[in-house]
Amino acid sequence: MSGRVLIINTGGTLSMKPTADGYIPSSGFLADQMSQMSELEQAPMPEFEILEHDPLIDSSDVTPDVWMRIANEIRTNMNRFDGFVVLHGTDTMAYTASALAFAMQGLPKPVILTGAQLPLGQIRNDARENLKTAMVMAANSPIAEIGLYFGDHLYRGCRSTKVSATSFDAFGSPNFPPLATVGTSISYHQNYHKIDNADSLVVHPIQHSDVLAFRLFPGLGMDTFRHILRKPMKGIVIETYGDGNGPSRNPDFLSAIRESVDNGMVIMGCTQCLHGGMTQAGYAAGTALTKAGVIPGWDMTIEACVTKMLYLFSQGISNDEVKTRLGENLVGELTIPTGS
Ligand code: ASP
Repeated sequence: MSGRVLIINTGGTLSMKPTADGYIPSSGFLADQMSQMSELEQAPMPEFEILEHDPLIDSSDVTPDVWMRIANEIRTNMNRFDGFVVLHGTDTMAYTASALAFAMQGLPKPVILTGAQLPLGQIRNDARENLKTAMVMAANSPIAEIGLYFGDHLYRGCRSTKVSATSFDAFGSPNFPPLATVGTSISYHQNYHKIDNADSLVVHPIQHSDVLAFRLFPGLGMDTFRHILRKPMKGIVIETYGDGNGPSRNPDFLSAIRESVDNGMVIMGCTQCLHGGMTQAGYAAGTALTKAGVIPGWDMTIEACVTKMLYLFSQGISNDEVKTRLGENLVGELTIPTGS
């Protein structure tokens, strides 16, 4: 046996059972299935313990409380294990991976999130390989950050996004290379590993906040738009077009943004495109948003944008500080284009 791993099971398809209503989480099912996997007793598998959440949930029910629970469980057990595997449903796994990256800074050991598109109990499934490889990585890898392992790639958690509802390659990291690629061997791409300045683990709170993400579309009604910009809303992520563009010939749109920013609203933009970042500077239609007070989110995923906003609003800092830090690279979640 090589190393010791704590498996935190939050729920998700990997340990679900089929019912007449579809898959549902099933407590004790993971331990039962793993007890029948004789390969877990062979090298290079690590020793493991399972910490199962009660209740197990479909990840559609994840809240910031779940993120904090996972973070605190990892912190409490940090000295007893070489690494951690977090089993999680795929639907919101990228949100949890991003949130944990902001919440858990200065991580000394690997934390690998994984899950599956088909559960352990199915004849054909991706659950077994994802689970075993994540365990091996958690026990032995040089990664000391939040990673997301799925379909032969280990991604930086705060760069990952769910890209398929059905494929075993369900995740991608469109704007950052994988931390590791898995084939007949596991290749860690050392140059992409995070260089963290924190000396030791700090768990920062993330709480619910009045934040909204929405996608811009041609025909957005201005009454609707002004309605969502009202208090108690504190922060909005707008998925803008392409390089960070919006309807710059619509004075109502721009003045609604300007007025709400002047009243204390924090508004950040990110691109609707899967690949490539935005600058909000390539076109007049983007510059207009910058002038109206929209902070460019560069190449962040929508999951990173939303969780970063929630994280910053939970730190007890001023709105100006929130705005400054939103545009900075805090934990490897974004790349600022040269010259910006
Ligand atoms: N609905 C499930 C969940 O996110 C999907 C999955 O696990 O793949 O929990």
